Amino acid sequence: MIERTIFHDIRDKKAAADIVYEDEEVMAFKDINPAAPTHLLFIPKKENDVIPSIADLTDETAHVPGLLIRTAQQFAKNRGIDGYRLTFHVGRGGGQMVFYIHLHFLSQQSL
Ligand code: AMP
Repeated sequence: MIERTIFHDIRDKKAAADIVYEDEEVMAFKDINPAAPTHLLFIPKKENDVIPSIADLTDETAHVPGLLIRTAQQFAKNRGIDGYRLTFHVGRGGGQMVFYIHLHFLSQQSL
């Protein structure tokens, strides 16, 4: 178990967020402080996939970054977004503030 974060509450629908995509494994919602016209955060939903950071990856969770990237890629394709930036902040020194693994998706194109 990791320390609970605001993203746990968003995943569990206990905190509000502007959710733009959700399936059984992944949720995406708008960043509250966008750094681009489209700024989304992709998070894993399954408890076993939820780790604080890329720094905590193990053999058991090695699939999680790929799951988030693949979901973001499919989302972009479906929404006609053909240019975007994908980023993981890793640790406080890497600018990470929320310790629930998440993929930043930024695009100059609006949703
Ligand atoms: P990071 O630096 O990778 O930990 O980024 C965390 C991101 O979460 C920041 O870009 C914040 O603006 C965003 N954020 C924090 N709280 C919320 C929230 N309640 N809803 C949406 N985005 C949030």
